[in-house]
Amino acid sequence: MRKNKQNVGIVGASVGGLVSAAALADRQMDVTIFERGRSVTGLYNKIDTPFGRQELGMHVIYVNHDQYLYLCQIFGAEVFEVLEGVRVDLGASNICGTNNFDSVYPDLRNHPDLETILVEMRAGGGSEDRASNSREEAIRRFGRTAALQVTIPAIEKLWHSKAESLTKEALHCFYDLRRMVVCDKPQADRLKKDAWLDQVVANPVQTEPSGKIFGDRLGLVFKAAYTDLNERVIAWAKKNNIKIEFEKQIGIEDGQLLSDGSPLSETCDACIVAAPIHTLAQQLNADLDQIELSIAYFQVDRRIGADFPAYYLLCHDPSLKSSRIVNYGAYNSDKRDEERSVLAVEFLHPIGKPPETAEIGNEICRIFPDFSVVASYRLEKTMKLCRPTITNRKILEKLEHEVSVAFGGKPLYFSGMRTDTGQFFSHHTIGAAYEAALDCHQRFR
Ligand SMILES: Cc1cc2nc3c(=O)[nH]c(=O)nc-3n(C[C@H](O)[C@H](O)[C@H](O)COP(=O)(O)OP(=O)(O)OC[C@H]3O[C@@H](n4cnc5c(N)ncnc54)[C@H](O)[C@@H]3O)c2cc1C
Repeated sequence: MRKNKQNVGIVGASVGGLVSAAALADRQMDVTIFERGRSVTGLYNKIDTPFGRQELGMHVIYVNHDQYLYLCQIFGAEVFEVLEGVRVDLGASNICGTNNFDSVYPDLRNHPDLETILVEMRAGGGSEDRASNSREEAIRRFGRTAALQVTIPAIEKLWHSKAESLTKEALHCFYDLRRMVVCDKPQADRLKKDAWLDQVVANPVQTEPSGKIFGDRLGLVFKAAYTDLNERVIAWAKKNNIKIEFEKQIGIEDGQLLSDGSPLSETCDACIVAAPIHTLAQQLNADLDQIELSIAYFQVDRRIGADFPAYYLLCHDPSLKSSRIVNYGAYNSDKRDEERSVLAVEFLHPIGKPPETAEIGNEICRIFPDFSVVASYRLEKTMKLCRPTITNRKILEKLEHEVSVAFGGKPLYFSGMRTDTGQFFSHHTIGAAYEAALDCHQRFR
């Protein structure tokens, strides 16, 4: 089929970039993907450990139906396990040393001040007051008692920062702290009838979709058995005349998007930056306030399977160094029947100052006295994330503005992860990349 002459450049061959490329190619646009790695290296890839292949960053990917169909074109439907809605999002919290299961978010059902919390939440509901930082936003959303006692300490523990210095959207990212469990199911069902509360109150037993966050999305897991994802992407790209240039790192200098020193605007009529913008602007490294994320895997002495929630959110307990425990067996059938389950622990820490793996292992034993850790594996590679601070936001916004101006008014989109704007989860980034592709196509029609 004849292609339009417009060539759209896409930075990053992870799910967001690939889905947007598929949507553009489907609309007969020319597409070139620039990927700095030697292969598709997004966070959806798995890694080999002494106890088998384990997940990296992206655990469950939430997509709408159209995006799912594109992912099937790219990778093949067989590589995905499809989970239904938020059922997969089961988690638990640990508040002041007490384990609370069946909730993804801070669980306040047993909070001594629950009545006050509910009154405050109802009173604050729908308030249009503008919050200028995470502290104010937490109080606006959840009322003073819950915010001061639970949400603010949680976010401060997670980012190792004062809530006043964080953007209000910081509440949305990483562990999506915007929702809380405050009640039993009948209470939740009543509160969910209120549109505003529906967004902040999770259904405690997770039997129904809660809020509008996941909507009618599907949850996808890449099955561990498929180790040929790179070959699949390459074959799909070839079939669809999509160029993928591997080992091509796009940089930003003086506001210009550059490929091998040449402005991308000379060769591309539009561009979707489907990678975190700060990874393009190396020179900003010194200015940005960043934090390091490490991951360690722990094999335990028995099968856990689905008995235990998928995401166990320790970030709510300020006394623990672990940020989140992920139990693959809860949602991934590849892992459910393993004799000895593997838990992944993610922990955010100041750069260069990680806790010892043994310290994290001890936390696991403390939290789950029924398991013992038989082996551990610390991922050597760590990841730097921008803290979602107001100062970082100013720097990144200025950068986006400069790059857009230098791109000369041609369509330019940024769909990569931004902790400061709350664009963090895969459904945010894939959604943003997909919308960018549709908008781009419209503008060239
Ligand atoms: C520890 C952790 C756990 C997470 N868990 C979940 C989860 O359970 N569910 C969920 O929905 N989300 C989760 N996320 C978030 C999720 O990983 C991201 O939303 C998702 O990876 C973003 O996908 P993306 O396609 O936008 O790009 P990314 O996966 O960020 O990939 C960007 C791509 O761009 C390439 N690239 C980067 N810079 C350049 C450059 N300068 N030039 C060329 N190429 C470049 C990279 O190599 C990479 O291929 C998690 C993230 C982390 C860190």
